[in-house]
Amino acid sequence: MNTQVLDKTQVNTAAEILKKGGVVGIPTETVYGLAADALNGEAVAKIFRAKGRPMDNPLIVHIADFGDIERFRLVKEIPESAKKLAKAFWPGPLTMIMKRTEVIPREVSAGLDTVAVRFPAHPLAQEIIRAADTPLAAPSANLSGSPSPTTARHVLNDMDGKIDAVLDGGMSEVGVESTVITLAADVPRVLRPGGVTVEQLREVLGEVEVDDAVLHQLKEGVTAASPGMKYKHYAPKANVLLLKGSDEQYISYVNAHAGDDVCALCCDEDLLLLRVKTLSLGRRTDYLTQAHHLFDCLRRIDENPTVHTVYSRLPSTEGVGLAVYNRLIRAAGFEVIDLEAV
Ligand code: AMP
Ligand code: MG
Repeated sequence: MNTQVLDKTQVNTAAEILKKGGVVGIPTETVYGLAADALNGEAVAKIFRAKGRPMDNPLIVHIADFGDIERFRLVKEIPESAKKLAKAFWPGPLTMIMKRTEVIPREVSAGLDTVAVRFPAHPLAQEIIRAADTPLAAPSANLSGSPSPTTARHVLNDMDGKIDAVLDGGMSEVGVESTVITLAADVPRVLRPGGVTVEQLREVLGEVEVDDAVLHQLKEGVTAASPGMKYKHYAPKANVLLLKGSDEQYISYVNAHAGDDVCALCCDEDLLLLRVKTLSLGRRTDYLTQAHHLFDCLRRIDENPTVHTVYSRLPSTEGVGLAVYNRLIRAAGFEVIDLEAV
């Protein structure tokens, strides 16, 4: 298959492909999505094939207006909490899980009785959804397991020849996937951290739980509330190791393990002190910038085939730092070296 590269003037071409049941890489403010008509099970199945995504991992349905939830009868009932969150954070990087109707194909919900819905803020994403005149199922547009794409080039690196088209809308602003919150449980619970922080959600809803799988590896035999959280994820080919300790401990450990095959995924403040190849995520406490750069840095590591080991600090869990933490700890396969203990 020849993958067309479209520009921002070609929204209608993208929409025509989607209406005919095709698959298109689309820009969103979080990461690039691999979109298909969410109400067409056959079209959605193509997304799973292109990504190599396990069929038990459900997809997020993207809409271009809060009213689309009712218009397309996506959910049984819109909870009050969803209305409050939509008012505060939509359009934006927040996905809400609600009880689904029979309109949702089984490919989208992966056998669950719920559906995940998001109203993205990216103007091109909105235009494409409106022009296609249907909600779009769209997971991140990477091969399953590799870092999510934040540019059209990243999408092509993974998907060239496998999808109908990609629409280039520049670099994704947030850089990590949306926050996923389930409203189908008694107490709202965050299943995946993202651009909207737990602190912000609590300001609107009061009590909000954070699922165990956000910070920790799931214990054997435990069912994941969000199936995506159980897979090793976001990993470059090199081995990522997370170091827990002070700034000084991090720098001296990395310098003591210097070598041509080593790269430090670090912060701006570390750059002059490290004696190995470096990639900086941004300033130490600027979590928004770190999230914005994270996946691009992980992909750059793969572009340098001599790098076999990547040393990164264990990120903070504050604010959007929690989203960076959640992705990096998966990229590292949950491997953390405690520098206090070495
Ligand atoms: P991605 O499409 O790559 O952003 O991944 C979507 C994430 O949302 C995955 O972690 C899914 O497991 C999760 N997800 C989507 N729909 C549901 C649902 N109905 N219930 C729980 N998690 C969901
Ligand atoms: Mg993904």
